[in-house]
Amino acid sequence: MESRGLAHHLPRSVAGRYVKPTLSAAALDEIVREICAEMAAEAERGAVATYIPELAGVDPNQFALALTLPDGSMISGGDAATPFSIQSVSKVFTLALALGRDGESLWKRVGREPSGDPFNSIVQLEYEQGIPRNPFINAGAIVVTDTILSSHKPKDALGEVLDFIHLLADDTSIVIDPDVARSERDTGFRNTALANFMRAYGTLRCQPGEALGVYFHHCAITMTVRQLAKAGRFLAFDGCLSPGGQRVMAARATRQINALMLTCGHYDGSGEFAFKVGLPGKSGVGGGILAIAPGKAAIGCWSPGLNKVGNSKLASRALEMLAERTGWSVFAN
Ligand code: GLU
Repeated sequence: MESRGLAHHLPRSVAGRYVKPTLSAAALDEIVREICAEMAAEAERGAVATYIPELAGVDPNQFALALTLPDGSMISGGDAATPFSIQSVSKVFTLALALGRDGESLWKRVGREPSGDPFNSIVQLEYEQGIPRNPFINAGAIVVTDTILSSHKPKDALGEVLDFIHLLADDTSIVIDPDVARSERDTGFRNTALANFMRAYGTLRCQPGEALGVYFHHCAITMTVRQLAKAGRFLAFDGCLSPGGQRVMAARATRQINALMLTCGHYDGSGEFAFKVGLPGKSGVGGGILAIAPGKAAIGCWSPGLNKVGNSKLASRALEMLAERTGWSVFAN
């Protein structure tokens, strides 16, 4: 008897080849405007980070969303021209720089597993003999910074990070907020402990103070969501600034970074973000999130109020709405 496979049992509309229509720029613009309006009306906005005065003083009533599309156009709404502290989102760019330079050898010094522990946990580091679980927890990001620093003076390493972000975003106006950097250093006792601990294990090769100095400064970079959405293009377009355009990284490395963003990009809320949004994303305690819809868009989203695990409450919600309304997901075509 002829086998007709499973399709035989499915309703016509499901068995037939379903080709999702591409969303027009006008439709995307409408979706972004709706989300911004809904977020502006939200009463529950989370709590801003309070560990440094520069973050504690940020107005929680702000929200912004920006998308960069394959044709290079940008759709944005809300407070899209307001710069904010990107904090741990910077770890994506330092990882890209380190991977581009050192390649696979980086993975001898840092793991690739979700941590399941707070981003600044020292207990896990001790259990695992000074090798951080992944490059997005603080210890891992300090190792990444250490690799960028090797063969450089701290000032030059920092210059290299900024130059790289300027190239990615095609924007040389992106800067470091010196007050945030100073406050990070003045309150960074736990990061200092992590760095010293890793130096004792030999994971860190440079002087801990120098690696920390560069780390605190790259966490203090300020960007708007528009700049963030532009800087993330290389992750949306397989290592190029536009589909088939200028290549800034190997495709394989950008896929690895996206995988780490999906599994480790949201602290202890990484599983929840993957479940609800279904896109790689990296968040920071300044309330920013960089999310990637491969082939479709690089997305910057920001709202300063955080949820219990330190991710922006409204930016997480907004990205969930965006994914729902566009159908974008790494688990579907
Ligand atoms: N500069 C912060 C720290 O290392 C980063 C916080 C974050 O965004 O996760 O504590």
